[in-house]
Amino acid sequence: MTEVAEAPIAGRSGELKRISHWIGGQTVEGTSGRSGPVFNPAKGVQTAEVDFASVEEIDRAVQAAMAALPDWRAMSLSRRTELFFRIRQLVDEHREDIAKLLTAEHGKVLSDAMGEVARGLEVIEYCCGIPELLKGEFSEQASSGIDVYSIRQPLGVVAGITPFNFPAMVPMWMWAPALACGNTFVLKPSEKDPSASVYTAELLKEAGVPDGVFNVVHGDKVAVDAILEHPEIKAVSFVGSTPIARYVYETATKHGKRAQALGGAKNHMIVLPDADVDMAADAAVSAAYGSAGERCMAISQVVAVGDVADRFIEAVKARIPKVKVGDGMQPDSEMGPLVTREHRDKVAGYVAGTAGEGGTVVVDGRESAPEGDGFWLGVSLLDDLKPGMKAYDDEIFGPVLGVTRVDTYDEAVKLVNENPYGNGTAIFTRDGGVARRFQFEVQAGMVGINVPIPVPVAYYSFGGWKASLFGDTHIYGPEGISFYTRGKVVTSRWPDPATSKVDLGFPQTR
Ligand code: NAD
Repeated sequence: MTEVAEAPIAGRSGELKRISHWIGGQTVEGTSGRSGPVFNPAKGVQTAEVDFASVEEIDRAVQAAMAALPDWRAMSLSRRTELFFRIRQLVDEHREDIAKLLTAEHGKVLSDAMGEVARGLEVIEYCCGIPELLKGEFSEQASSGIDVYSIRQPLGVVAGITPFNFPAMVPMWMWAPALACGNTFVLKPSEKDPSASVYTAELLKEAGVPDGVFNVVHGDKVAVDAILEHPEIKAVSFVGSTPIARYVYETATKHGKRAQALGGAKNHMIVLPDADVDMAADAAVSAAYGSAGERCMAISQVVAVGDVADRFIEAVKARIPKVKVGDGMQPDSEMGPLVTREHRDKVAGYVAGTAGEGGTVVVDGRESAPEGDGFWLGVSLLDDLKPGMKAYDDEIFGPVLGVTRVDTYDEAVKLVNENPYGNGTAIFTRDGGVARRFQFEVQAGMVGINVPIPVPVAYYSFGGWKASLFGDTHIYGPEGISFYTRGKVVTSRWPDPATSKVDLGFPQTR
């Protein structure tokens, strides 16, 4: 039986032991009779129980979003901008509160959680420029007396389904552009760490976002399927693992929805013999073990070319004992626990199976896990991995860095390009010509040159290739605006004006 922690997680409106839905601007307790546990991964204890939505509860959230839609989409751009600046200010003021919720339920260290909120905030800031982003085109005198212009309009009620590993930032990637474009929103966050989404809903209300514009429903497959099948939901954004991303994309599009579904990853980092080995080792350790490897842009696989392999492995090995694994609330912790006990055991299983498949366990994280009931695992370094081995093929999503040795740059690129995933990749080299060739020929959506986690800034768009993305548009940035709007082209002809009036007041926009 799971022990329930003495100290509940503090929410903005008090204690948050039971985590309920947020519909129409208020907390709505679930009535499905189904719920799930939320843990503090550093303590290994349950801290809350989250309601799981029924089909009817999803419909209730959609009805609330539909009711709010006409006024929200009719709100002037300047007023919506003003609201977004207020949202930006409130999220900024409360970034540490949000980060603490992330650490409490996800386990990532507080500094990393602060970084997550900061990157989400950048997307909100981008959306403060929504009048500029929604500008259309105008062609005067396309024909005699005829003008043609294009406008972008919102889709209606749209939904987001998000993963456990970025409980604040990934929802911000979705709701911020969706709302800025004039849509209303239903969010189904991960059931593993749902508090940040409820907290965000309270902040949006405080900022002045009208009730029903932003709704949060919790749950599992039942809730997701109800979203995918609901006739009034016009678009679905999903971020999560590849099998579910594929399912979400296929089911949503089958039901006539626009869909973007971002999936898993196996991000390769190529280290060439001319690379700055210290820089490459620092980058690999940071990008492989940060957030316990539970990042879709984590570097999980290094491809070491030629004689750099031994030097690189030695440099990584020297850094590993200095990685401080501990409770994310402790200021000196650099890496927290894994999100659940089951996930920790699964990740440890990859390390356990490596030798049997012909790989070499250079550092075994099972031996350095901190004591206690938390879902702990130390960092692991595996060498001699090859395609066909489980530790090479699978997205491990834990603090495990694999190394594959090859002789040439061409072999290294071939490995990256033949991998079924294509989220991020990086190359470490001093040779600009090779780096440029890599950028030109590599099959991945986000490329780093001496940068290990090339998450695009908010005014570009984020997305992978191959099995890392199902759909046509990347998320946030210009493609996010495009995803959450549809174009309309107007062709107009007018008689010459016959009326006019005098008004000496300064023109108002609201
Ligand atoms: P997940 O696929 O298990 O869950 C994601 C969402 O889908 C959750 O809201 C969950 O409740 C729901 N879900 C789970 N099983 C479902 C099912 N059978 N039917 C319908 N819905 C279901 O992913 P996760 O474990 O929460 O997150 C980790 C994964 O997300 C990793 O694979 C990681 O690479 C990926 N991810 C990708 C990106 C990206 O941008 N490409 C970003 C973050 C995370």
